[in-house]
Amino acid sequence: MSEVELTQKQIQDKKRREAQKAKVNEAVAKADIERGLLLVITGNGKGKSTAGFGNITRALGHDQKVAVVQFVKGTQACGERNLLSSLGVPFHTMNTGFSWDSEDPERDKMAAQQAWAQAKKWLADPQYDVILLDELTYMITWGFIELADVLSSLSNRPTEMSVIITGRAAHRDLKALADTVSEVRPEKHAFQQGLKARIGIDW
Ligand code: ATP
Ligand code: MG
Repeated sequence: MSEVELTQKQIQDKKRREAQKAKVNEAVAKADIERGLLLVITGNGKGKSTAGFGNITRALGHDQKVAVVQFVKGTQACGERNLLSSLGVPFHTMNTGFSWDSEDPERDKMAAQQAWAQAKKWLADPQYDVILLDELTYMITWGFIELADVLSSLSNRPTEMSVIITGRAAHRDLKALADTVSEVRPEKHAFQQGLKARIGIDW
């Protein structure tokens, strides 16, 4: 390739980059609606809850008011809960109580409904900027809480409030209501190679 040809290619590349940049700028200028967002982070890969908690720390870093409801069994250790609770962040972990017989759907349903009642209170309180509802999707899947109730609480929340919902197999209506939906896809997972779940990484 001669020097002249190279220069022409460079000019073409520059033009292409500028056109692309103009397109992006145009799209950015068009996105002028300001309100709280609903994010759904779903899929079978690892990273949903850590993304949700990462977003909570991002908001906290701007001195925003945040709250977390965890729809998992309460006895599990959780580094984020330790940290956020020590910072005084309102944090509700579903309390399924302790029993040798861990399969008690009625007790789990009651605990889920209690956790959801707390979530609803926070979802109606305009002082909160960002609320994380970790693993909420399963509560809908298992019929522990009503989809319609979840959708209406989310729809009627204060305009400036953002909500992040995590968990596998998010209901299509929940995804339809969301502004941002991310699907985390497992390409590989350490567990499949016999590696043990690890403190600081998995919980
Ligand atoms: P994390 O809390 O690490 O962000 P997650 O919220 O995306 O993970 P969950 O479905 O809530 O994933 O599962 C939590 C636990 O299961 C974590 O210990 C995680 O490492 C593990 N896990 C997540 N995805 C997979 C997978 N594809 N195979 C095996 N284990 C997984
Ligand atoms: Mg999770």
